[in-house]
Amino acid sequence: MEPALRLTLRTGWPFAAVPLIAAATMLVPPMNGPTASAPLSALALLLGTLLATGLAVAAVRRADRILLRAAPPLVFILGLAAARSLGGGSASGLAPLLLLPLLWVVVFGTRTQLWTVAAATAALFVVPLVVVGAPDYTPGDWRRGVLWTAIVLALGTPLQQGVQQLRVAGARHRRSAAQLTSVLRAATGHAVVATDDDGVITLFSPGAERMLGWRAEDVVGSRADRFVQDEPGLARRAAELGLDSPSEVMVQDLLRDGSSESVLRLARRDGSTLRAHVTVTRMTSSDGSATGWTGVASDVTDQEAARHELAAAERRWRELLGHLPDTAVAVVGADLGYHSALTGRGATGPTDEPDPDGPSAADAAVTAADGASLLPSHLLPLEPMVRAALDGEPGSDELHSSRTGLTHEVTAVPLPVRDGRREVLVVTRDVTQIRAREAELRRARDRFGQLFDDTPHGMLLIGTDGCISQVNAAMARLIGWEREELLGRHAHDTPFAATHPEPPRLADMLAGRLREITVQRTIRVGRGEAVHLAITAVPLMVDDRVESLLVTAVDVTEATRHELQLLHFAEHDPLTGLANRRKFDAELAAHLRRCATTGPRGALLLLDLDRFKRVNDTLGHQAGDELIIAVAEILSTRIRGTDVVARQGGDEFAVLLPRSDRDGAVTVAADLVQLIREHSRDARLPAVTASVGVALVDRATVTADHLLSAADLAMYDAKHSGRDRVAVYGDGGRPDDGRAPSGREADRGGPSAWAADSPRRSGPEE
Ligand code: GH3
Ligand code: MG
Repeated sequence: MEPALRLTLRTGWPFAAVPLIAAATMLVPPMNGPTASAPLSALALLLGTLLATGLAVAAVRRADRILLRAAPPLVFILGLAAARSLGGGSASGLAPLLLLPLLWVVVFGTRTQLWTVAAATAALFVVPLVVVGAPDYTPGDWRRGVLWTAIVLALGTPLQQGVQQLRVAGARHRRSAAQLTSVLRAATGHAVVATDDDGVITLFSPGAERMLGWRAEDVVGSRADRFVQDEPGLARRAAELGLDSPSEVMVQDLLRDGSSESVLRLARRDGSTLRAHVTVTRMTSSDGSATGWTGVASDVTDQEAARHELAAAERRWRELLGHLPDTAVAVVGADLGYHSALTGRGATGPTDEPDPDGPSAADAAVTAADGASLLPSHLLPLEPMVRAALDGEPGSDELHSSRTGLTHEVTAVPLPVRDGRREVLVVTRDVTQIRAREAELRRARDRFGQLFDDTPHGMLLIGTDGCISQVNAAMARLIGWEREELLGRHAHDTPFAATHPEPPRLADMLAGRLREITVQRTIRVGRGEAVHLAITAVPLMVDDRVESLLVTAVDVTEATRHELQLLHFAEHDPLTGLANRRKFDAELAAHLRRCATTGPRGALLLLDLDRFKRVNDTLGHQAGDELIIAVAEILSTRIRGTDVVARQGGDEFAVLLPRSDRDGAVTVAADLVQLIREHSRDARLPAVTASVGVALVDRATVTADHLLSAADLAMYDAKHSGRDRVAVYGDGGRPDDGRAPSGREADRGGPSAWAADSPRRSGPEE
């Protein structure tokens, strides 16, 4: 059914009901009513009027013109008036029905319609009077009709106004209700709960159903504080205020302020809880009287968790930064003011000359932590960098304070734009000590580099890979290579290999097992010139780890030569170049040691020139020297390479014949005597001859002293026997001419006296 028609039926029913009732009354036998025919025709007319009115309603229901909409009541009035006349005028009892259209218009019509219908109604009573004349029924009846019309009209105007207002209010109310419903439906993320003044729930929104798991019909009528759980913060406040339950805190807030806002723990139907931000406000009617409370809750469980997580992250961040030594961190905004700041342990900021009393970065950071402060003056030189960072360009710079001597490294990094705000993270780090160490390291490197390059000693560095990483000019010169040829080459892969430590030892040193290697090497440089090098290798440690090996080479060719010379002087007679007494004693001792294992062998000859003084005296000391040299020459020439010749001092010589037996020794001795004799004769010298004493090593246990004493005694025997001859110790006669040994020898007890400790004679007896 069409809504308009439905409305028509709903609002038009009195027009059907009331006349039908009136018609029914007409059928009931009257006390003193009309004739039977009159009510029937009046009844028919009444029903026709109803039909016509219905048709008129249907016809004009969409009409825009107000007067047209007054047509149905007019049709009704006209029809009713006719029916009334047919029914007997005032006797019909239908007159009150004439007021029906008026009342209808009062409720549903406009002011104009009301006037129109009132005028028509009045006309019904007045026009017949004017046109036809006075009725045959009592005039009081139409007067009553006019009067009723006037009364209805008088009441109708304000009544209609009231109806209009009610209608407008009703429409507004419906609109508000519809809006509220749609808002409540749409606000699924929020729970809206309304209560009466006593906190009894009157409204439970779909959002509340969703959030708390209860259905509206289950909770409407119960108290709203059933959802509030014990909340630590609220419980604490309740205890402070001396209240029994946390919800009373809310009630108190509400009563005092008319609203309350708090984060509460709410219970869900399934027993779980959630944290919600709850705002409760007082509901008041238009006259200001309280009608109840409205609570709006939004679930902040996730937000709270995120906030806690954020706070924990920030705590961790601050903790971390708080333990970063010498570091200050600040967040600087577009206004160059600190938004937040933190100082690491021991951080001190740079201060600059123009601002001696200015705060350090740390001070500023601490200050800024309490409230925003502008970029401290000592950081002003970095303003362009901070501004560049605000524009998204990170940067880093260093500040050095000539006043404090501190150096700070400042880094500015743009932070992601937050709520349209640009911020920069400024990290200030005290790098004074680091820079000082770096500078010291640089200086040390320079010093080392200079030392390395300029030292006259050869130097090279071998890396942990065994390759030469650095080599100085002196080293290249020493070994006759170009530096470029050596660089990068493996230490084993160079002709220089002989001059560096052997491979296994090199590996040991690289592994940290060996602290020093010292070797001496002779290498040939260029066209074969031998160079004697003293080479030392030491590991260079960095943090207990071998970083490289430093090999130094020193040319010791000259020193070695000198050393050898000294050694030669220590063991040789400077005049003749023969071995000296010291060397001879060592050779003799060595021979006797060998004899201890191989058995007694060899012989010792002691030779002294006869009357040598004469040469000195007659020809001079120089001639004496020349003779001594000549004798040395004779001795060296005559004996074999394995024999040892030595000048014992003055004109005395010793010869060790390690492999000789008695005959061989006597032969050599006799040859020497003869050769010297011949030499002095050839050289036209005063008759200079030699006397030789021979002692044989015939016992493995004989000592050098005994042997020398024996040879000495034999030599003196030769002198006493007339000189220019050989005497063998232990022989009975004069050995060189085969005669028996001298009496002196017999006096000494011959070979049996060997065991006795005979002291060596210090000089010849004349
Ligand atoms: P004798 O036959 O007893 O051996 O008599 P001698 O003249 O050889 O005298 P003796 O062996 O006792 O002394 C050796 C002398 O040689 C003593 C010293 O004046 C001389 N003399 C020692 N050393 C040197 C030297 O290096 N050069 C020279 N020219 N004379 C020396
Ligand atoms: Mg002599």
